[in-house]
Amino acid sequence: MNIPVDNKIRIAGGGIAGLSTAIYLQSKNNPTVVYEKELKIGQSRHGDFEGLENWIFNDRIHSSFKNIGFDFNKIQSTPISSFYVHTTHQNPLHVKSKIPFFFLVSRGSKSIDLDHQLFLQCKKAGVEFRFGSKTPSTCDVIATGTRKASAYIQGINFNTDLKNQVHLLLGKKFAPKGYAYLIIQNGHGTIASAFKKTKNTQERFLENCIEYFKSKNINFSEAKKFSSRGSFSLPFGQMNLPILVGEAGGFQDYLFGF
Ligand SMILES: Cc1cc2nc3c(=O)[nH]c(=O)nc-3n(C[C@H](O)[C@H](O)[C@H](O)COP(=O)(O)OP(=O)(O)OC[C@H]3O[C@@H](n4cnc5c(N)ncnc54)[C@H](O)[C@@H]3O)c2cc1C
Repeated sequence: MNIPVDNKIRIAGGGIAGLSTAIYLQSKNNPTVVYEKELKIGQSRHGDFEGLENWIFNDRIHSSFKNIGFDFNKIQSTPISSFYVHTTHQNPLHVKSKIPFFFLVSRGSKSIDLDHQLFLQCKKAGVEFRFGSKTPSTCDVIATGTRKASAYIQGINFNTDLKNQVHLLLGKKFAPKGYAYLIIQNGHGTIASAFKKTKNTQERFLENCIEYFKSKNINFSEAKKFSSRGSFSLPFGQMNLPILVGEAGGFQDYLFGF
């Protein structure tokens, strides 16, 4: 890696990719500084749930995180070994496994959120942060997230008195070329639709999902909307510096976050 004059590795972007890279580099005795354009870590997320897939790691998720220097036990995570798959034309399918499919984590700047815990562990390891400042053009690692949006996510977070449960919803009415989901954990819920670009911008995929779940007696209150976007374009051929990590490099979960 191209270590700059001040002997610190510079990472642009303090999302989960930038923070994980920083923890790893710092744990290998490489002084690292993260430049984050926002004033706080986790500001681009809204406390919504996300699934960290168990199957993408060679080892169990806890030991894989340990290998990069991150203590997974510090975050609030829930193993999910069972969920329901819904389509427009079949009865819901119950999918189960002895080994968890994924671990649910919440994303944002609250103390239990993955982003905040990654930040705390970076600080503990000695990573430096520059918030709200202009990122130098000479960064060694680019972790600034989505470059060109090819997928969109619209969702709501809400409160509910329903028991913990996870549902996946498939079909172009709900999420063309993508997936939608309902996740309820400890009184908090997320309904979201993650879909590819569509010509018909008038489509109301999120609303269709909400109506569907309401018809299944899923009641909720204090719903707050959020939206985001993602990219799935691997920069083949770009092997030189700066190194692109996370979504800046087109790395995303290709099917769905479960
Ligand atoms: C609603 C939603 C649900 C999702 N669900 C799942 C799931 O269940 N499972 C899964 O695996 N993935 C899921 N994803 C995808 C996953 O969240 C992203 O792929 C991942 O968060 C990307 O992390 P990142 O660090 O690469 O980018 P980001 O999280 O986008 O972080 C980029 C950071 O860089 C900062 N930044 C941007 N430009 C600059 C700049 N010029 N200088 C300095 N800083 C800058 C931004 O402020 C931000 O903090 C979901 C995404 C969304 C939006």
